Amino acid sequence: MSYIKTKGVILKEINVGEADKIVTIFSKNKGKISGSAKGARRPKSSLVAGTQLFCYSEFVLFKGKDMYSLNSCDVIEPFYEIRNDLVKLTYAAHINEIITDIVQEEQPSARVLQLFLNSLYMLSKTEKAPEQIARVFEIRLLSILGYAPSVRGCIKCGSEDFTDFSFSFRKCGFLCKQCIEDDRYALSLSEGAARAIHYIVHSNIKSVFNFDVSNKVLRELEKVSKRYLKDRLDREYNKLEFLKTLNS
Ligand SMILES: [Zn+2]
Repeated sequence: MSYIKTKGVILKEINVGEADKIVTIFSKNKGKISGSAKGARRPKSSLVAGTQLFCYSEFVLFKGKDMYSLNSCDVIEPFYEIRNDLVKLTYAAHINEIITDIVQEEQPSARVLQLFLNSLYMLSKTEKAPEQIARVFEIRLLSILGYAPSVRGCIKCGSEDFTDFSFSFRKCGFLCKQCIEDDRYALSLSEGAARAIHYIVHSNIKSVFNFDVSNKVLRELEKVSKRYLKDRLDREYNKLEFLKTLNS
């Protein structure tokens, strides 16, 4: 019997039978994989802690005929703060939905996993606005996937005047005031929003969350990111709408 040892995050858990679970894992070595976790719902099972949603563990799995079977797991980071907070949980579920869509089975994707883990870390361990964490995740993810917008300057003339940019979805990047006729549907941006987008696309992954913006800039980032995500992934993600109903 062949087995693999890999670190990974639980993306989904489904209860089966009396005490078992089937889990989907975003694994470091194999991308998205599913495995059965026998007895994982028994309180004394060694699999209880590591098979919770969003838990980051090191797994040992045996490769069966149809599916992996989870032999053991050692918890690295449980991220329990996420499961104990409705707002954090909703943002994590939104991020999870996108990850589940784009990560393929048996295809490792180390940079996406790193961004995912950093996002979960920021959500669970810091007071950074979840909205900002989600925007950084979305825009940086699209960049990793090969859809980085062109935001070093104006796509057409190269101007680097950040006070003056609009975001063109059609051209996938910034246009300055002089070049705006190339796409009159481009979305006008404040300097703060333009600089934030540039930072999210081009900064080191380790410091990509380390900036602060106003709520007004966050609204702008939301408009850009939501539309860009829809254009590139051909899908709308609406889990966060639920939070707006809570606030109204
Ligand atoms: Zn220009």
